[in-house]
Amino acid sequence: MIPETADSRAGPDIPDYLIVGQGLAGSVLALLMRRRGLRFRVVDNANPSGATRVAAGILNPVTGRKIVKSWRADESLPSAFAFYREAERELGVGLLGERIIHRYLVTGNEREIWRRKRDQEGWGSLTSPLPEEARPGFRGGLQGFRIHGGGILDAPGFVEAVGLLLLREGNLLRAELPVESIRISTAGVEWEGVRARRVIFCEGHRASRNPLFSWLPFRHAKGETLTLRWDGPCDDRIHNFGKWLFPLGGGEARAGSTFKWADLTETTTDAGRAEILDGLARVLPVQPEVIGQRAGIRPILKDSRPVAGLHPGHPNAGIFNGLGSKGVSLAPLFAEQFLNHLESGGPLDDEIDARRNL
Ligand SMILES: Cc1cc2nc3c(=O)[nH]c(=O)nc-3n(C[C@H](O)[C@H](O)[C@H](O)COP(=O)(O)OP(=O)(O)OC[C@H]3O[C@@H](n4cnc5c(N)ncnc54)[C@H](O)[C@@H]3O)c2cc1C
Repeated sequence: MIPETADSRAGPDIPDYLIVGQGLAGSVLALLMRRRGLRFRVVDNANPSGATRVAAGILNPVTGRKIVKSWRADESLPSAFAFYREAERELGVGLLGERIIHRYLVTGNEREIWRRKRDQEGWGSLTSPLPEEARPGFRGGLQGFRIHGGGILDAPGFVEAVGLLLLREGNLLRAELPVESIRISTAGVEWEGVRARRVIFCEGHRASRNPLFSWLPFRHAKGETLTLRWDGPCDDRIHNFGKWLFPLGGGEARAGSTFKWADLTETTTDAGRAEILDGLARVLPVQPEVIGQRAGIRPILKDSRPVAGLHPGHPNAGIFNGLGSKGVSLAPLFAEQFLNHLESGGPLDDEIDARRNL
């Protein structure tokens, strides 16, 4: 990064923000800025393996082996559904579907956890029994329950459509922004003739290489998914059994995903494919044909919470990241909160504030 200088003073008519990265984080932030009439530019290098471009896009209010309500689900899911519905209108494309999730309890431990938890208060209308006849195409005898209030966002379609809108309006540059080449001063930021009041980095897992924010305790995780030929029922259910599976229509289905901390390459692996197929074998009577495989890296902090805030030494540089494996649900709520913070000094929740890591 080029150090602060007096010559990069921001003028009165320059954009308010320069956003680096147009995955989920950058796209949601950009749309919110657009809704508020703020002026911004986005720079993105269109990496086809960016996490959002391989994400399944599932919104799930009840998750994990321990079967718990997803963190902040009561606020984040309504906020996410409202945000993406509005985005569908702005972008002129269908992206979001409400979905029932079938959760299969494939281990004795999971069945025991659910036996203890199912009658507890707090589930409200989130879960209901899963009748035997609701599982055509799956192994007989599977136990489980239904989860209500979930859905799927076409996450790659969302970033694609936002990118097209921003390009049309002259607000997106398809380029790599090497962080060392950005000039940050007390008055504003400048990169290759693009000037703004502030820069917000939404670089996904690449943030670990950003000298401004590499002090954050990142612990990214690689994930892989498979595209399958599918002649099972073409309903709109999501099937969850440690792994997940959902029909895509047109004789295809998607299944995933793996979760690996050590290998942070964006390439697919035989081991990833085998792990997903092993998971599928627990619930499907026959092995489906694999017709595609993808890999990406989920940007995660050690405490598995999102991160938002301004740099402690450079108040014109901020970050929005750490969306982990639930970015689709979490991004709208926390992008809105971050923008309130940036524009009017509104509070950031302690749990997402970048300063928690100082
Ligand atoms: C296999 C898999 C399945 C997933 N499934 C789900 C799911 O079902 N539900 C869910 O909610 N989440 C899911 N996720 C997680 C979700 O994908 C992430 O939370 C989210 O996409 C992160 O978005 P991001 O914008 O932070 O990062 P990214 O999507 O990686 O976006 C960062 C963008 O910035 C660009 N960039 C970075 N640095 C620069 C630079 N210096 N100059 C220019 N461009 C730059 C990158 O190329 C990229 O386009 C999944 C992830 C994986 C890997």
